[in-house]
This record gives sequence, C-alpha cells and structure tokens, in this order.
Amino acid sequence: MTAELLDGREIAKDYRAGLQEQVEALKEKGITPNLTVVIVGNDGASLSYVKSKNKAAEKIGMSSGIIHLEEDATEEEVLDTVRRLNEDDNVHGILVQVPLPKQVDENKVLEAIAPEKDVDGFSPVNIGRMYTEQETFIPCTPLGIMELLKHTGSLEGKEVAVIGRSHIVGQPVSKLLTNENATVTLMHSRTKNMVEKLKDYDVVVSAVGKPGLVHGKDLKEGAIVIDVGNTVVDGKLVGDVDFESAKEVASYITPVPGGVGPLTITMVLNNALIAAKRLNNVE
Ligand code: NAP
Repeated sequence: MTAELLDGREIAKDYRAGLQEQVEALKEKGITPNLTVVIVGNDGASLSYVKSKNKAAEKIGMSSGIIHLEEDATEEEVLDTVRRLNEDDNVHGILVQVPLPKQVDENKVLEAIAPEKDVDGFSPVNIGRMYTEQETFIPCTPLGIMELLKHTGSLEGKEVAVIGRSHIVGQPVSKLLTNENATVTLMHSRTKNMVEKLKDYDVVVSAVGKPGLVHGKDLKEGAIVIDVGNTVVDGKLVGDVDFESAKEVASYITPVPGGVGPLTITMVLNNALIAAKRLNNVE
C-alpha cells in the first residue's frame, strides 16, 4: 500500500479560507478579531514562530500584535503585561510564547491569562473545562490533529496509540480521541516493548521528538499515521516517523514539514476568532 498524504498545507489553506469569511462577517459588525502574542527574550525559533502566527492572522484579516519583552524581564513585568491585555477590549486572543526565561514562573503566567482570552487553552481553568467537556479553548496542536483525522473517516471503535504524554499534545489529544469513541493507549518513555506493540493499532499519533522512533515495519497494514514530532537534523525539520518506510504500510500519513504544523497555526486563528465572537456575544 502507498499511503494517501494528509497534506496539512492544503487542509489548512481550505480551513483558513473558511475562517477568513467569518472574520469578514465579524468586521461588518464592527469587530476586528485580534490576536496578541507576548514573547520574552530573543530565542530565534520562538521569534520566527511568533511572527508566523501574526502573519497568518493578518492574512485572514485579523489584527495582530506582538509584545516583545527583554530576556531579563521580571515575572511581575510579564504578569502586568498579561493583566493589561486581559483588560483591553480590543484584544481577543492572548498567547504567551513558552518556554519563558527561568526567572518567570510559567504556571503563574498561564494562570494569569483570562480564560476567555486563553486561545492556547493552557490555563488550568480551560484544561479543567476541556476534561469536563465544558465551553473552553482546546489546545491548538491537538485540535489540528483532530482536524487532520477528520479527513480519514470515523474514529469510532478504532484502536489508537498516542506516543508522548505532554500536557500540550499527548494528554489532550488522548481526551479528544476518546470523545470520538476511539480506544486510546497513551504511551511514553516508560512503556515496555512499545515498538513491538504498535502493530495492534489502527491509528498512531507520535508526539515525542525522536526521529526514526516509528518505522514502517512496526506498523499495522493500513494504519493512519500522524507525525507530530519536530526535530531539526542537519538544518532540516524531521518528524518521529521514518516516512519512506511508513508510507508503504499506512493508509494515511502526515509529512514533516507540512503536516501537523500548518494546522496548529490554523487552530490558533480558529481559537482567536472564537474568542472574538464569545467576547462580543456573536453566535
Ligand atoms: P515533551 O513535553 O518533551 O514530551 C515528549 C514525550 O515523549 C514525553 O511524554 C516522553 O515520555 C515521551 N518520550 C520520550 N522518549 C520516548 C520514547 N523513546 N518512547 C516513547 N515515548 C517517549 O514534548 P512535546 O512538547 O509534547 O512535543 C513532542 C514533539 O512534538 C516535539 O518534537 C515537538 O517539537 C513537537 N511539536 C510539534 C508541534 C507542531 O505543531 N507540529 C506542536 C507541539 C509539539 P515521558 O513523559 O515518560 O518523559
């Protein structure tokens, strides 16, 4: 079998066109959705990621802002910035780029973001709301993964292996998959004989950051493979999955780059738009 490519760039393009229409409709009501990103320090990868989020927001007609604080900013300065954005009626979505410098307590900052503007969905209130299936913001990478999986058919009854148990990817996506009536096994660095077990699964979502972790010979024939991993090797971005061997066995597979990444940014825009609607009581 040669797998069908789950082309994240194409899927994201279609999705963003839908968002753009909704942004235009909102602007006609006098509301311009705004996404504001706070970044502390000068990490090159973080800066370019923040700029790409803002560019993507502007491309669909949203307004966007970047608040760039010095590397040695104090925790109080970061918290003050977040509080000011919470109070600003023109700001609908707030993102704080992590990781933060060591003098700033990340949990305190994430907790300070008003839940109704927390478009990453990382604040404890929104995480709790997600697990209790209340109105919330679902973290963007898990939401993007679910959007990709919509293109593969129903997940009901499927056996899914999620590899990696982080709070930003593995755990929330396991919850979302469970909501879709899949049966989920959450694997991690202490899982015994993990690779040998993969053959039992209809869907494999790998979110680890270890190139070559998942190989075609270890997959079930016809498996759906979502590669979340992002590692730079010799200046190139690579995933966790050995793409060449896996595509011969899988039914669907995401490439890296161009798979999950474009959907993650798209879901940031999606959540900022939802925030603008909710804050203005627009359906
Ligand atoms: P993380 O917090 O470092 O978590 C990695 C997870 O992988 C941990 O749960 C760890 O297990 C597990 N793990 C490590 N080695 C393993 C092994 N040999 N076998 C099985 N599991 C293993 O990472 P993250 O923030 O979730 O990110 C994961 C990857 O996704 C990274 O490459 C990141 O760059 C990428 N990512 C991509 C996007 C995107 O938009 N494309 C977004 C977010 C993240 P323990 O818990 O036991 O340590």
